[in-house]
Amino acid sequence: MTTTDPAAPAVLTGVGVGTSAAVGTVVLVAPPARPPADEPPAADPAAAADAVRTAFAAVAATLRERAAVAGGTTAEVLTATALMAEDPGLLADVERRLGAATGPASAVDAAVEGFCEVLAAGGPYLAERVTDLRDVRDRVLAHLLGLPQPGVPALHGPSVVVAADLAPADTATLDPALVAGIVTELGGPTSHTAIIAAQLDVPCVVRVAGATSLRAGGRVALDARAGTVTPDPPAELVEAVEARRAARAALAAAAGGPGRTADGVQVQLLANVGTVEDAERAAAATGAAAVEGVGLFRTEVLFLDRAAEPGEAEQADAYARVLAAFAGRKVVVRTLDAGADKPLAFVPVEPEENPALGVRGLRTARRHPQLLATQLRALAAAAERTGTDPWVMAPMVATAAEAAGFAERARAAGLRTAGAMVEVPAAALRAPALLAAGLDFVSVGTNDLTQYAMAADRLAGELADLLDPWQPAVLQLVGLTGAAGAAAGRPVGVCGEAARDPLLALVLVGLGVTSLSMAPAAVPAVRFALARTTAATCRAMASAALAAEDPAAARAAAAALADPAVRAL
Ligand code: PEP
Ligand code: MG
Repeated sequence: MTTTDPAAPAVLTGVGVGTSAAVGTVVLVAPPARPPADEPPAADPAAAADAVRTAFAAVAATLRERAAVAGGTTAEVLTATALMAEDPGLLADVERRLGAATGPASAVDAAVEGFCEVLAAGGPYLAERVTDLRDVRDRVLAHLLGLPQPGVPALHGPSVVVAADLAPADTATLDPALVAGIVTELGGPTSHTAIIAAQLDVPCVVRVAGATSLRAGGRVALDARAGTVTPDPPAELVEAVEARRAARAALAAAAGGPGRTADGVQVQLLANVGTVEDAERAAAATGAAAVEGVGLFRTEVLFLDRAAEPGEAEQADAYARVLAAFAGRKVVVRTLDAGADKPLAFVPVEPEENPALGVRGLRTARRHPQLLATQLRALAAAAERTGTDPWVMAPMVATAAEAAGFAERARAAGLRTAGAMVEVPAAALRAPALLAAGLDFVSVGTNDLTQYAMAADRLAGELADLLDPWQPAVLQLVGLTGAAGAAAGRPVGVCGEAARDPLLALVLVGLGVTSLSMAPAAVPAVRFALARTTAATCRAMASAALAAEDPAAARAAAAALADPAVRAL
């Protein structure tokens, strides 16, 4: 884009997630209000109590209004939350604290925290209400302090949601029909929020300094491939974005069928899903967007906002819906991957210096074996109910002994096909031993594999150059895994974000990968790239990338061997 207008607002840059682009209206997400550290005590406690009562009443009224339009379960939840905002005991506690010479915001905060402690100690059902009560607190504080209400506001029309950061639960509830794009100041290219954005098929740019200074209601163009956010985009940029969207839509209109290279080597194209809705959408896709199954069902996404562990029956119901949606097709279910970038409130963690190197993924089962046991039983029950045969795999496996232990537990629960994710360099280096330990398959999680191979926190956006899956060291580890799979005659998938870059997908196939799992929106472009390329070219691209010094050179070397139409994707 060229612009000669000196008054045009500056283009903001960050790290793009995916390759798509969009134009939309800026909707700013306010961070939750906190009581000011220097809040003075209420000079007039009676007047402060009035202000607090008014704020609670206003919040209750808003929640009831939302309940009236929402209907169904959402309405029930909102009405229950409104009742919390009207709880006389809570108001009395706030007033008592005001009497003790505290400012109104601090009094609300302290009273709510006190109630949260009581709820948390009152068993799983009450503990579940803690999140709702804290939401009431955030809304009341915003009222008292004259700040915008927290969270994602109601969206009307194509919106670019802009926030300092988004909680995964916020991102998961966004309506893809109204969200044109997501821009955050924090987060990393493989953070959970970015992954959910890809799932929603929404272009996303993270690590954009100054994003929250964008004007609410203003228009921006967002280009995930370039990592740019352009306020008040000129007409030619808007046209270019629209042309790209049309080209993508044209690819999606092509024919479907099993993924295969130009010379007929089959490479399964699978979907990454995190919710029942994701699964139902992916299962219903047709033509070039159709998938042969699910390569990664991130089960923890179902329970991100839960304070209490979901019971076996509830889990079985959710899994059964996903399995039923894909009946007759392959579904790879990953057991709960809690910890580090995916905290789950119901999985207790001790404070850790380095959570990414701590008790996470399969390691959680060392402390809480019943969590894994319940999940495996629920999955087996869902399989039986739907007459399907899901594959199950564990996240964060490092050794052959862990692999063997997991496979044994999965089979004991009645599941026939057990595998492991290769996310830790040790697992890639020892892939032959993992496969010999009783695994039926492995699936490479390039997001974590890159993090651990490069010793770069996947949430640390400023290390994005190290977190690039084109890093030759990462490719080498994928190559070791691919070779181990070929030698053992077992499938090797990739289910990290790397699989949805068409050029990189070809390199992965050249490294011995037999299936690619990705956000369904990425499938048409990867399908097209495969269909244009022979297996021998994939291998040549892989060798060229492996021989390169750095990610940019690896991409350039692979691109030089690719069909020009693939290069242009
Ligand atoms: C990965 O690490 O590549 C992966 C697919 O798992 P997640 O992104 O959920 O950690
Ligand atoms: Mg992972």
